[in-house]
Amino acid sequence: MGWDRISKSGSARRRPRMPSYEAARRQFSWAEARAALDGLPEGRGLNIAHEAVDRHAKGPAGGRAALRWLGKDGTRRELSYAALAGLSDRFANLLRDLGIGKGDTVFSLLGRVPALYVAVLGALKNRSVFCPLFSAFGPEPIQSRMAIGAAKVLVTTPQLYARKVRALRADLPQLEQVLLVGGAEPEPGCQSFERRLEVASEDFVIPPTDPEDAALLHFTSGTTGRPKGALHVHEAAVVHAASARFALDLGPEDVYWCTADPGWVTGTSYGIVAPLVVGATLVVDEAEFEPERWYRILQDEKVRVWYTAPTAIRMLMKLGPDLPRRFDLSALRLAASVGEPLNPEAVVWGLKVLGQPFHDTWWQTETGGIMLANFAATDIKPGSMGRPLPGIEAAILRHREDGGVEVIGEAGREGELALKAGWPSMFRGYLNEEARYRKCFADGWYLSGDLARRDSDGYFWFLGRADDMIKSAGHLIGPFEVESALMEHPAVAEAGVIGKPDPVAMETVKAFVALKPGFRPDDALRREILGLARERLGPAVAPREIDFLDDLPKTRSGKIMRRLLKARELGLTEGDTSTLESSS
Ligand code: ATP
Ligand code: MG
Repeated sequence: MGWDRISKSGSARRRPRMPSYEAARRQFSWAEARAALDGLPEGRGLNIAHEAVDRHAKGPAGGRAALRWLGKDGTRRELSYAALAGLSDRFANLLRDLGIGKGDTVFSLLGRVPALYVAVLGALKNRSVFCPLFSAFGPEPIQSRMAIGAAKVLVTTPQLYARKVRALRADLPQLEQVLLVGGAEPEPGCQSFERRLEVASEDFVIPPTDPEDAALLHFTSGTTGRPKGALHVHEAAVVHAASARFALDLGPEDVYWCTADPGWVTGTSYGIVAPLVVGATLVVDEAEFEPERWYRILQDEKVRVWYTAPTAIRMLMKLGPDLPRRFDLSALRLAASVGEPLNPEAVVWGLKVLGQPFHDTWWQTETGGIMLANFAATDIKPGSMGRPLPGIEAAILRHREDGGVEVIGEAGREGELALKAGWPSMFRGYLNEEARYRKCFADGWYLSGDLARRDSDGYFWFLGRADDMIKSAGHLIGPFEVESALMEHPAVAEAGVIGKPDPVAMETVKAFVALKPGFRPDDALRREILGLARERLGPAVAPREIDFLDDLPKTRSGKIMRRLLKARELGLTEGDTSTLESSS
């Protein structure tokens, strides 16, 4: 492809907030990053909501837009930092009036509506633990998550309540309060969110908050199995602030759009907390993905920093370059991606068609914030996840027979991607699963469960999740490598690759491919794609078989579920499908 590196020298339209990666790494300390935050007045600790809104609301930024909300029906509403501070104060008082306090769990089941943002920040002020659920979840995933999280309060809408929660109420004995957003006369057992908010006081003093106090509960995407509830603390704000500047190059004057739903960790950490902590203006779109709408938002809102995901990027690519060329995307200064491997094709497509390459970033629900990134000031290597954030030590580990681990110093060798434990946004536990939590650590390292390699420039390259790796005739094959090669064929929109048991080779590589519009899934095309894969990967790594599918099974957060492709191929049970896109 000839795009091994996208050079940044001389290309920046504005000096990035981190002009030198090397210098930032050398100078960085978590103590200083912590000191750069405001802290609660009179040394009363650290509270995410204070950093995100109150701090700005009281100063000259009070009148600046914190939230720019775009309704499905074309409504456009802005909330200033001062207004958001006032509303979240009211919600904190509302909770307190209801007897909900420190450590109690508040859940939401809402679309991307302003009430969600008010509720998250208000709950954090009250030192309650907030857990946002994705509104398209069906009753079972809602019930199991609320039971694990011991939900005391649920904020939802009358429609979602009637469809998904009412019948579960008997199975949720700890659920004390249900607040309904946008309903005139709430039904028995529920209260009106708006009415309670209206009568609550607008003055709330955040009580002393220990940085180690629990703040957010996030369930993992369920890509590899049953979702886990990862618990995060207020101190995570230190990473949110630092990573927003370093990895997203985000600051106060930026209009910023994170397309992830707050039901996933990205949509909260980088869809609410991080941008507000640095004082940016957050664009929130209530509607679902729609290519033309998305390009229009980028254009009309003059989005400067855009954080999205590979699935969305691939869907935009599928429709070709003509549509985006009808829009003026010149305000865009940084585009970033997270959640899944980002194929090199996609990075380069961004540069050619949108005028900005996609900067891949890597992190997990467990890490609470961005850990690896391609930075604004540094060269991008398409297909690489980039380098560790200043303050983060990342390594490739080998597991020893005695159960310990050791760092593989040599560049280019594959092993488990691990992080030196102890960064501020590291999860503090999986709820009710202490043993599973402990298994994530060895010899002072947090083990990610992803396999990767590091090159001699210190860039990390994703190979696959440990569970998805394919062992074939003595080779260890990462599905991402094969999928990326398949994506180079002009007909291929998406690819998912699995290992299929084989008596001789142990496993053979099988690919599932979805085509772009206008291509016919026939034998000739299959042979052509196989030929290209063989040329790129060699016969030992290239797929033996290709099946065409209309769509690949994905989680609601947009990740290809290879374990389902495999279970279906082998006729096995499908396991936990609570986060599968089509299961509602
Ligand atoms: P579960 O843990 O329930 O199986 P999940 O791991 O998909 O689900 P998340 O925490 O949402 O849940 O996702 C983190 C994972 O997503 C990472 O471990 C990695 O496998 C994948 N991922 C995230 N960013 C990237 C990236 N830039 N490149 C490759 N993979 C990525
Ligand atoms: Mg995971």
